[in-house]
Amino acid sequence: MADFDLSAFEQRAQDLWKGSFEPDPSEKEKYYLNVAYPYPSGAMHVGHGRTYIVPDVIARFWRMRGRQVLYPMAFHVTGAPVIGISKRISRQDENTIRLYRDLYKVPPAVLEKFVDPLTIVRHFSDEYQRVMSSCGLSIDWRRRFTTVDPTYSKFIEWQWKHLYEAGHVIKGAHPVRYCTFDENPVGDHDLLEGDKAEVIRFTLVMFRFDDGFIPTATLRPETIYGVTNLWVNPGVTYVRALVDGKPWVISREAAEKLLLQDHTVTIEKEIPGTALIERIVSHPLCGEIPILPADFVDPDMASGLVMSVPAHAPFDYVALRDLQRQGRYTHIRPVPLIRVEGYGEAPAQDAVERAGITTQLDARMDALTQEMYSTEFAKGQLLEKFGGKPVRVARDEVAALMTEQHGSAVMYEFDTRPVVCRCGNRVKVKIIHDQWFLRYSDPAWKAQVSDQLKHMSLVPPEVRSEFDRTVDWLRDWACTRRVGLGTRFPWDTTQLIEPLSDSTIYMAYYTIAHRIREMAPDTLTPEVFDYIFLGKESKSLPQKVKLDAMRKEFLYWYPYNFRFSAKDLISNHLTFQIFHHVAIFEKQHLPRGMVVFGMGLLNGAKMSSSKGNVFLLEDAVKEFGADTVRMFLMGSAEPWQDFDWRNELVASVKKQIERFYITIHEMKDVAGEPKDIDLWLMSRLLEHIEKTTASLENFQTRQALQEAFFSIENDLKWYRRRLPEGSDGSRMLRSLCSAWVRLLTPFIPFTCEKLWQDIGGQGLVSFADWPVVDQQQKNLRIELAEELLLRTVEDLESIKKLIPITPRSITISIAPAWKHEIFKTIACAPDRNLAIPTIMKDELMRRRGKEATDAAKQCTTLIHRLPPHIVELIATEGVNERAVFEQATPFLEKEFGVPVHITDAESSRHAKSAGALPFKPALVIE
Ligand SMILES: [Zn+2]
Repeated sequence: MADFDLSAFEQRAQDLWKGSFEPDPSEKEKYYLNVAYPYPSGAMHVGHGRTYIVPDVIARFWRMRGRQVLYPMAFHVTGAPVIGISKRISRQDENTIRLYRDLYKVPPAVLEKFVDPLTIVRHFSDEYQRVMSSCGLSIDWRRRFTTVDPTYSKFIEWQWKHLYEAGHVIKGAHPVRYCTFDENPVGDHDLLEGDKAEVIRFTLVMFRFDDGFIPTATLRPETIYGVTNLWVNPGVTYVRALVDGKPWVISREAAEKLLLQDHTVTIEKEIPGTALIERIVSHPLCGEIPILPADFVDPDMASGLVMSVPAHAPFDYVALRDLQRQGRYTHIRPVPLIRVEGYGEAPAQDAVERAGITTQLDARMDALTQEMYSTEFAKGQLLEKFGGKPVRVARDEVAALMTEQHGSAVMYEFDTRPVVCRCGNRVKVKIIHDQWFLRYSDPAWKAQVSDQLKHMSLVPPEVRSEFDRTVDWLRDWACTRRVGLGTRFPWDTTQLIEPLSDSTIYMAYYTIAHRIREMAPDTLTPEVFDYIFLGKESKSLPQKVKLDAMRKEFLYWYPYNFRFSAKDLISNHLTFQIFHHVAIFEKQHLPRGMVVFGMGLLNGAKMSSSKGNVFLLEDAVKEFGADTVRMFLMGSAEPWQDFDWRNELVASVKKQIERFYITIHEMKDVAGEPKDIDLWLMSRLLEHIEKTTASLENFQTRQALQEAFFSIENDLKWYRRRLPEGSDGSRMLRSLCSAWVRLLTPFIPFTCEKLWQDIGGQGLVSFADWPVVDQQQKNLRIELAEELLLRTVEDLESIKKLIPITPRSITISIAPAWKHEIFKTIACAPDRNLAIPTIMKDELMRRRGKEATDAAKQCTTLIHRLPPHIVELIATEGVNERAVFEQATPFLEKEFGVPVHITDAESSRHAKSAGALPFKPALVIE
């Protein structure tokens, strides 16, 4: 037998596979899957490994099912990150150098050249391709491109022309996340912290103070009527600043923020928070009120001071209560203004007292505030004296009143903080003018996307609500940047299209990527792409033959069947790509499905390159072998679940593959005559084929491996145990070998290519036919008999462990026929719990009395414990238990080393025999 040597298998298969995974349009039905292309700025770790191996397993599965499968790959190099990296390398930044030299193992001579950003992406694109290939990914590399290729830019220009003409691109002033250090809007991918933060629009309520104002931000302007005081943080130094020429008292942070939001701001002087305590402010809608101290007030939240509505805001109530418990400001009473079902006059007081909250710093305060906010908005109504309207109506009316008559302004702020840029700078909200936006807020566009989502299969189904929510929430998207790599914005060439906006329809570009390279970029007019992707004829199209070939590719492959990506892209990329597809492509070419992945952990902690908590994919392949890495990643969790990489577990997977390899070699030349147990083995194999197939059709890689590997291995263990002494099985094992190798090919293709040759398979196993199920070979009768024997052996083993004597004999007592009748009646009853009265209607059963009711109860328990398909088989097929055990007596005597007697329970001398049930004989060891 050849040695088990994974790296030799890898070498050999790589040679055999050269050029094999380069599909062209054909007569066969196609299966096109794709993955979010990587940004190649560092080495791949095992988390990336799973992202690309899952689709490969699926690709290999469908290829063996006879489909023409396309799995392409490209590299996304748009944007600024790589420019930042090259800058940090050129100024010899220690952390960056360490990351690239030590973790990513970039040779010194190459690292030197990283001062050029394009060198970084070129280097890592090649590395990605090399490592992906080493993992056995069946990618069509002819179609590889990067997003800065001139032909790709032409494609993007065409895309944007369509978006623009359809009214999806607008210019305007909008609040965006902004980094003042980079002088650039900040996307999700540019953030170290706070990628879930939303920009919220607050109303600033202007309280008159001295000769100027103190603004406080609120999301609930209608509560102005219940304001009893303002809160100031005594530990903070505030500023007096001229904002648009008027004096405001605000936090220093607020002054910086307002400057980015279309205000002129000049700081005049500092004012300690303590100096504001007990000063009086006024507002026309609530009168004169004092400023009081509270520690919860955050200077980094909006204006840095807040208004207090203790009747309706839990924080305000607790802060006031704290002061009053010290005997201060006891004359202040909460002013209720909203009535809401389920709460008393002052709902905040109710909620706080009910929850038993004792301090402002209680962790539950935020949740309580949120709950109050939602409940009052949904069900609250203003009291008669404040107009009597529902909160949801009053809110906008009061806001409008304050803006028109009482000088209220708008301030934008994040809903959660901090929000931190990759550069380390705090991100702020800036109103950008003359900025280009994609109008994701457009209800008509949203409706098109929602409609398309209904026609798509989403895996796992739970993600659907997240997609719906994203479509709902999406607002206009700043789609250009000043700095970075990428395609120039056609209507303003000082700007570049940002990374999440030039990566939305490239799945269509894959279909032509290898052919369009032959065309000169300057011939690629919008008309050319209109022809390829939309079939629009026009005069003077260049090189029509080439265009026709591309049109054919597109029509063959599109729409794609499934797109794969990590779940953190639902809120942006995965949803954006549907927006863009519906805006440009014809109905029949819109996306069909998406599979969303869970995250990767390393020894229980989140993988993160920047924190050094990664295990490089290449190191994993070298240490354990590519098949081991693949099988571990596919077997440890379903794709949408999080997985945890642990070296010790991976090592045990390698042993499993070796076991498989040895077993196939042991079985492949066996030539004995088939027995009943062979029929059992083959019948079981059909079930495993069916279940593996169904699992892979549903992307359940873990479930598929359970069936295709462990279930078959378990059956073989039993099979070998059941063979007569000296036998190593029958020639049927050869067809099991052939099916088993094919079932595991998607998971461990290198080992399987080698084994396929060893067992005399034709051609490459990667292109062999997937095993099919011949229903004729199913033998439920034999399966049931074997199941009975297997369970009895397990029961005997556990009894043997429990008794202290050395056994001298075993007696198996079989249940009488009338118990079988009872079993059958219960098993077939529509409601099993009501079956006993039915049974006792029978005259013969009634005569048996308690004996019969006891048996019925025991059968009910047994039926609940047995797998449903077994119960069904017992009830329908039935099994001759005596024959099974008599036939298996030599086996049982060999297993247990003592004489085995088979008796009928009712004629047995053992008291225990009375407990015999169908499919569960009474067992006596003496
Ligand atoms: Zn920054």
